[in-house]
Amino acid sequence: MPEIKNPFFETTALSTKAVHADRHLDVHPEVSPAINTSVTYAYSRKDMKAPNYGTDQVYEYARYGTPTLARVESVLSTICGGYAVAYSSGLSALGALLNHYKPRRILMNRGYFGSFNVVQAYLQHHVGSATVLGLDAEFKEGDFVYIETPINPHGEVFDIRYYANRAHAVNALLVVDSTLAPPPLCNPFIQGADVVLHSATKYLGGHADILAGVVVSKCPDLAKALNKERSVSGAVPGNLETWLLLRSLRTLELRVMQQSKTAKMLVAWFHNMAISPIASEEENKIPFGTIVQVRHASIQKVHPAFDVCAQHPNGFGALFTVTLKSREQALAVAKNLRLTTFATSLGDVNSLVDWRHGEDPTTDPRQLRVSVGLENIEDLKNDWRRAIQASCVSSKL
Ligand SMILES: *Cc1c(COP(=O)(O)O)cnc(C)c1O
Repeated sequence: MPEIKNPFFETTALSTKAVHADRHLDVHPEVSPAINTSVTYAYSRKDMKAPNYGTDQVYEYARYGTPTLARVESVLSTICGGYAVAYSSGLSALGALLNHYKPRRILMNRGYFGSFNVVQAYLQHHVGSATVLGLDAEFKEGDFVYIETPINPHGEVFDIRYYANRAHAVNALLVVDSTLAPPPLCNPFIQGADVVLHSATKYLGGHADILAGVVVSKCPDLAKALNKERSVSGAVPGNLETWLLLRSLRTLELRVMQQSKTAKMLVAWFHNMAISPIASEEENKIPFGTIVQVRHASIQKVHPAFDVCAQHPNGFGALFTVTLKSREQALAVAKNLRLTTFATSLGDVNSLVDWRHGEDPTTDPRQLRVSVGLENIEDLKNDWRRAIQASCVSSKL
């Protein structure tokens, strides 16, 4: 098989990598990669293991790999600065990592509830021999330290370097779920992560039309081992998903930068209304006290030792939470919005608002989770203002 990474792109910028890094794997003259749905590939006439796709690629059966999957992994490896293995979902990627390392102790922050469910399922298979702890526990050799940053649902950040230092001091592994801050927002390897995980269903896919995940490692041998295990488990993304992911990665930087920028402006607007009666009542005709709180990394107070700008040189992502006065008001606003769809998921080109309490009862029922898409900022503000005003009128009746 050819090298998945083309050394030429090591020194190019992110957008160039995202558009071109897989070109050396392309054996056809089409400029846009073909949609290839085949599960099986004719053997070479020479020999069953000889190249049958161009001069240096061998494909046999889709569970072991496909040409489009190789191209997606080439782009992901190049833009994430490691060796990427793609999965059928973000959670199957996490499951694959746990099955690979078989840790006895998992130390994690409580972010996305689905990740916690995967850990619980793992513990059920290792009753008595494995346990889950919080990040304040003392780290020990062989620990699987798993931090989600920025964290779901409110998008605040954790200091990757701090946890990397603690983990590496005792020979523990640091895995970072960087779903909420894909390239170019954060590269957790710079802060010392050993392994990076993304749910590609979110920003990497970005269009609410694929379920996929990726594990990126600094170590080619780990990627090789995961690849082999994936051929056994079958947790590969499907052919069409793979093609859609490749298509989506081309525009990753533009999408993520713009979404992040719009989110920061929207957060500042909400935050102003939460702290200033003038901003709330005079500027937006919303009774002061309606917006109780806004949370996002752009307004987070961090420990002075945490170099948050070094970890996030290009922004904090497009996910934040806004807390309203009551559970009823939060639901009324979510249902009233027109440009922000009341649905779960995040990172898509269309803005989404979710009432997390419906899925995760540990979250505040007055809180809405907002994922900002690519709509215009003024249109989004007008829509939110109208929906909140309507919820105030209806709650007075
Ligand atoms: C969505 C999400 C996942 C799970 O990804 P799926 O692709 O839905 O399996 C994991 N981590 C975070 C932070 C997520 O937001």
